[in-house]
Amino acid sequence: MKLGIMCAMEEEMALIKADIVNPQIKTIAGRDFYSGTLYQQEVVLVISRVGKVAAASTATTLIDCFKVDQVIFTGTAGAIDSVLNVGDLVVGDLTLQHDVDAMGFGYDRFLIPVIRKAYFESNQAMTDLLFKSASDYIKNTLPQEIPNSVLEKLGIKEPKVLLGTIASGDQFISNKEKKDWLETHIKNLKCVEMEGAAVAQICYEFNVPFAIFRVISDSASETATVDFDFFIQEASHFTKGCLKTFLENFA
Ligand code: SAH
Repeated sequence: MKLGIMCAMEEEMALIKADIVNPQIKTIAGRDFYSGTLYQQEVVLVISRVGKVAAASTATTLIDCFKVDQVIFTGTAGAIDSVLNVGDLVVGDLTLQHDVDAMGFGYDRFLIPVIRKAYFESNQAMTDLLFKSASDYIKNTLPQEIPNSVLEKLGIKEPKVLLGTIASGDQFISNKEKKDWLETHIKNLKCVEMEGAAVAQICYEFNVPFAIFRVISDSASETATVDFDFFIQEASHFTKGCLKTFLENFA
């Protein structure tokens, strides 16, 4: 079983990349694909760059050239659900592209023409294991692994894990009005980012199981850019912690 692991930015994967044993690096379209062993599992890890086009094209290469059997996307996201704080984790059972609009043709809001889908379902078994791994990590490992000074700096007290919808679009969301619009129009929406649902669509079309989790970096409101820049330096503690627990329990 070969697992594809993706995120958008170097900072989000910094700590994990360093743990790959004997990585073979191949560069395609400016992306470095790291093939190797990570926590006893065969993986191919790649940083897609930001946005839906970058993520979808990278996912296509990962599946078509590297023949991965499953794909996990991770990284940061802006909170939509008001119970979420910086440092909380969201595991996505559904993803949706919030900037798709073909309503002029009579389609429902967000529905993608031709494939006639708006919501993409994550793989159930992978999602269950991700949720369990994220919960275990937060409870058992995070307090020892992330220095108190870092947690204090970020204002993180008792992080939690939620399951729900993750929305993607080619927009960094940093205003309350847009945030409210998204929350009103998308059922069970937890957070927003710029890649996940595009990768979910590629996985759906290739029939490759897909799962996603995100760590909250900002509130998707007016302070989002400042909060994001502050959090991103520490983001890979969270992505590494969850993925390590996931891979150690992955059959
Ligand atoms: N500062 C970066 C750009 C970051 S874009 C630069 O200058 O290059 C934000 C990235 O984090 C995207 O990959 C997106 O998936 C995620 N993200 C975090 N918070 C977000 C938000 N509020 N809205 C949209 N995407 C967000």
